[in-house]
Amino acid sequence: MLVITNATVLANEGEMRSAHIWIEDGVIRRLTDTKEPIPAHAEVRDAAGNFVSPGFIDMHVHLREPGFEHKETIATGTRSAAKGGFTTIACMPNTRPVTDTPETVQLILDKAEQEGIVKVLPYGSITKNELGRELTDFVALKQAGVIGFTDDGVGVQNAQMMKDAMKWAKELDMPVIAHCEDDSLVKGAAVTDGEFARKHGLKGIPNESEAIHVGRDILLSEATGVHYHVCHVSTEQSIRLIRQAKQFGIRVTAEVCPHHLLLSDEDIPGMDANWKMNPPLRTPRDVAACIEALEDGTIDIVVTDHAPHSEEEKAKGMDLAPFGIVGLETAFPLLYTKFVATGKWPLALLVKRMTADPANIFGLPTGRLEEGAPADITVIDLETEHEVDPSAFLTKGRNTPFTGWKLKGWPVMTLVDGRVVWSK
Ligand SMILES: [Zn+2]
Repeated sequence: MLVITNATVLANEGEMRSAHIWIEDGVIRRLTDTKEPIPAHAEVRDAAGNFVSPGFIDMHVHLREPGFEHKETIATGTRSAAKGGFTTIACMPNTRPVTDTPETVQLILDKAEQEGIVKVLPYGSITKNELGRELTDFVALKQAGVIGFTDDGVGVQNAQMMKDAMKWAKELDMPVIAHCEDDSLVKGAAVTDGEFARKHGLKGIPNESEAIHVGRDILLSEATGVHYHVCHVSTEQSIRLIRQAKQFGIRVTAEVCPHHLLLSDEDIPGMDANWKMNPPLRTPRDVAACIEALEDGTIDIVVTDHAPHSEEEKAKGMDLAPFGIVGLETAFPLLYTKFVATGKWPLALLVKRMTADPANIFGLPTGRLEEGAPADITVIDLETEHEVDPSAFLTKGRNTPFTGWKLKGWPVMTLVDGRVVWSK
């Protein structure tokens, strides 16, 4: 028996209350008030003064293994997740080899079991080698344990290919998760088509390159009935389409990353590749649309798109460096400090978008602090301020635009199935 004592938790109506959380065999047995006496044999972790949340769920992570172990491994990526308060992460299939066979899925699951410290849910790719030419074997991949299909990193360019993928996925009751990007509109660009691109004489990625795929795929989702989930939404146009699709009852859900809620292209300080990601930082108007969409539920969940790269790779500069930034260790503190501590959002909204909402959408048994739920739990210090210091990250990646930001809301202890997997 483990008891987390004097925890500040969110009650149903969103207000805070104090509770003891009783854990046995990896499961939350009871939440009681703090007058309940603790038996002498119980192991106690005192959470007095701290907020206790269901463990966060991140449905969009690049763990890089197999194939790119110099960027990240399942061991380092899951440690980074635990330090950021995440207890479940879903990993993208753009590994080497691409996660397009049951063997690679099994390899990831085995590694996660042996070397990982949080729950790892693999995606399988939609097309072989993510080349967009031939569908993978969805039946075999589902049997191997994938939770959905995506070619994240690239868009599926061919509409018939995407429609076939959706038909198969619907048949198997699996979601299709899409990186939306029309290659004919973006070739060669590193930043969005906005102020920064104009100032530096760069070709920009236009908003339509994302929204065209979102619109196409919404229509294909309507035609096939599949659950269609849009990756890392970044434009006002995509949001407009998703909002309308939801009004029509089409099975579409969507995610957004912290950086698209906090930064625009006008914040980019110069030709620094730590500000290069895909989709790129958009205009202030797009940022405002993303915030509003997360608030009103048009965008369902927060994800990090954690994308570690080595320092040599990122040192190649804006033009040549690969896309992506790390995100697991800063996501909650960033959003807590900028949206909750400022009074813009209730804490319950942010927590829900990172726990119960992803769990509901993807049918996961976690994401709730209640009796009978797995004891995946994050203890958070909402008061102490620290600067973002990449040299202290547990991820191998140091690629972040948030270095030096002063933030509150840092996790201090993370439990998975009732076991402390990380503590400060
Ligand atoms: Zn992507």
